Amino acid sequence: MTDRLLAEIAARREDLIALTQDLIRIPTLNPPGQKYREICAFLADRLGRRGWRVEMIRAEGAVGDSADWPRWNMVARHEGSRPGDCVHFNSHHDVVEVGHGWSRDPFGGELEGGRIYGRGACDMKGGLAASVIAAEAFVTLYPDHAGAVEISATADEESGGFGGVAYLAEKGWFDPARVQHVIIPEPLNKDRICLGHRGVWWAEIETKGRIAHGSMPFLGESAIRHMGAVLEEMERTLFPLLAGRSTDMPVVPDGARQSTLNINSIHGGEPEPEPGHTGLPAPCVADRCRLVIDRRFLIEEDLEEVKREVTGMLEKIRAERPGFEYEIRDMHEVIPTMTDRAAPIVAATARAIEKVLERTPDYVVSPGTYDQKHIDRIGRLKNCIAYGPGILDLAHQPDEWVGVEDMEHSASVMALVLAELLG
Ligand SMILES: [Zn+2]
Repeated sequence: MTDRLLAEIAARREDLIALTQDLIRIPTLNPPGQKYREICAFLADRLGRRGWRVEMIRAEGAVGDSADWPRWNMVARHEGSRPGDCVHFNSHHDVVEVGHGWSRDPFGGELEGGRIYGRGACDMKGGLAASVIAAEAFVTLYPDHAGAVEISATADEESGGFGGVAYLAEKGWFDPARVQHVIIPEPLNKDRICLGHRGVWWAEIETKGRIAHGSMPFLGESAIRHMGAVLEEMERTLFPLLAGRSTDMPVVPDGARQSTLNINSIHGGEPEPEPGHTGLPAPCVADRCRLVIDRRFLIEEDLEEVKREVTGMLEKIRAERPGFEYEIRDMHEVIPTMTDRAAPIVAATARAIEKVLERTPDYVVSPGTYDQKHIDRIGRLKNCIAYGPGILDLAHQPDEWVGVEDMEHSASVMALVLAELLG
């Protein structure tokens, strides 16, 4: 049966290419959230004609949803003929801006040398197409399969997923009572199983000062100098501490296999002048300075402890430095997640990779987050991985591409997973 399934995928090569090209040619740019309805309707039409039950779901009222830019999602379900689990493939349909440096038409879907080019080719319309072909091949060969197969195409992953997977999870679509296994075909390479991601905490630190004339700074209090003390303390104690904190999470690349902190921005004193402004700045002591930090934390770390580490550092500076006042505001947080290697979806995918690629898979964890966070936290479904074709480094780059052979291999793996779990 394995051979028949692999032959079935191979026979669909042209279909796989054409589907990927069709998806790339719908420019689902985010922002603003363009052509979402079109891409959902395109997939709903394709799967509906093949007997799937399809639903178009608008994330009304979600962050980003508006009358001009409605956040559309599509879920298709193929019901088996006997009881069993539901295996769900979730892909985001949005793509990031084109940017500069392209030598191809970003929405042309050009095929050359076994690669299909275009914005979203690897992240992640190639993965979406591979999952559709895998599921169609499976239901053709197994019309009486157990349980159900679901395919979703969801909005806004690139901007947090609130109008996409988060919305569906809140409405119960990822309730473990209705979905038992999830594969997210993000471009993690065809021989790697991504178990989850590190956590995120964004916060804004503001130091306070007192405005005065710049010729007499002693009459004021410089918020920028106070922030300088914060940066110095970070360099001296916090960065070395984080660099020394390693994890059992198999994060790739290696540099991310520790706690990290990025300073996203710093603003102090007068606002930046408008472009074209030719006047000199006014001499003032900065009365406030703001810094945005992006702290990525590990499954071994506790979010409250991560926050206390930073506030503890600020309190220490306050105790030592005259006139130091600050505020800190939470902006965004995501809890780390890592699916167990013994989970059914991981084990089934590992066996399928061994059959198709004749090698054991690598297990990885993503340095940044993706939609698994919503499935895990809101949906409470732990049996979830990211697995799909494409090279992660190409995502968001000019001349992004996905390899046809990689898509075929991934589709074969996905089809074998279905055969094992529902065959
Ligand atoms: Zn993606």
